[in-house]
Amino acid sequence: MLNKKSIDDINVKGKRVLVRCDFNVPLQDGKITDENRLVAALPTIKKLIADGGKVILCSHLGKPKGEPKPELSLAPVAKRLSELLGQEVKFAADPEVVGPNAKAAAAEMKDGDVILLENTRYRAEETKNGDAFSKELASLADVFVDDAFGTAHRAHCSNVGVTKYVETSVVGYLMQKEIDFLGNAVNNPERPFVAILGGSKVSSKISVINNLLDKVDTLIIGGGMAYTFAKAQGKEIGKSLVEDDYLDYAKEMVEKAEEKGVKLLLPVDTVVAKEFANDAPSRVVEGSMEPDEMGLDIGPKTRELYAEALKDAKTVVWNGPMGVFEMPNFAAGTIAVAKALADLKDAVTIIGGGDSAAAVNNLGFGDKMTHISTGGGASLEFLEGKELPGVVAANDK
Ligand code: ADP
Ligand code: MG
Repeated sequence: MLNKKSIDDINVKGKRVLVRCDFNVPLQDGKITDENRLVAALPTIKKLIADGGKVILCSHLGKPKGEPKPELSLAPVAKRLSELLGQEVKFAADPEVVGPNAKAAAAEMKDGDVILLENTRYRAEETKNGDAFSKELASLADVFVDDAFGTAHRAHCSNVGVTKYVETSVVGYLMQKEIDFLGNAVNNPERPFVAILGGSKVSSKISVINNLLDKVDTLIIGGGMAYTFAKAQGKEIGKSLVEDDYLDYAKEMVEKAEEKGVKLLLPVDTVVAKEFANDAPSRVVEGSMEPDEMGLDIGPKTRELYAEALKDAKTVVWNGPMGVFEMPNFAAGTIAVAKALADLKDAVTIIGGGDSAAAVNNLGFGDKMTHISTGGGASLEFLEGKELPGVVAANDK
């Protein structure tokens, strides 16, 4: 259990509550194309409204790099949140975030009212965790609630700096849920505990592999990173994705798995094509690829092998697709693994990583998983065993 104070430990009646959310949603022509993060923020907001708090929401959106960019305004989020909450979310459209609109709106609020500030990254200081902007944010509120798990691996003004200037800093329900699920899975798993790692690069997952090898019973590797392992074992991998600087590392990880008694599974066959395109003719290869071929998905034997290895699992953590799932002809491996997880009874299944969450949701398995993390980078850093500054900053219980 997370040893930090939460919104259940405080009384917010009549108080101004600044809530850092993760409203970093994808937008297309001003329309929100995936509102999972908004929906995930609702329990905390509703609780604060019900308890009579004056709720001041803030978030970043995209990377405006310290200046106002109208296409990255949070205005569409305020509109959609109003609909989801069934009450007005007043948008304080200040390019300086804490400006005359925000101050006036905050001063006029009644208990249970909600306002939303403009994109915190309109301010260059935000990502530098500067004091001035942290103080400005804190000046709006009596209490601070951090519910932005997606930003928890960063120390910014709106999640870390601000806590220096308010008396009370607690975490919200989403933060609590993310840390509880990920933390229990990694530190207190029911066994067998299986981790599945894939995605494009070994380099971005090194520390995750290394940390999880100390904890899991079985480690399954797929996706682009598998070819670095294959090459390290002397296999011909054509023009597949490979990181030559990590060949020794791949060997080390295979050795570490042996030492620790962890079953490490690597692909035994792969779907290859000559072009990186959905309609490129493909074939299944068990041995060596031709020099002009590249591996784009795990093959049918591997799919079976992995599904079998998952059959008795009681805890599964999955990060990284098994192939280029964005192209339907190379999505079978990712679908097979998603299906194997969906079929598990009485198992805890946790998905971390931005693309992995998108894959599971887009392929229609979202509601079959125990928990899909809303934080890509944050969930990875958590799986690496790192402390998250956004969590550390909250008051201890
Ligand atoms: P996550 O965001 O879940 O941590 P990554 O960002 O590490 O995952 O990897 C996701 C990307 O990996 C996807 O865009 C997918 O197309 C790509 N990928 C998976 N397998 C391969 C492969 N064999 N070759 C090239 N890219 C791959
Ligand atoms: Mg990614």
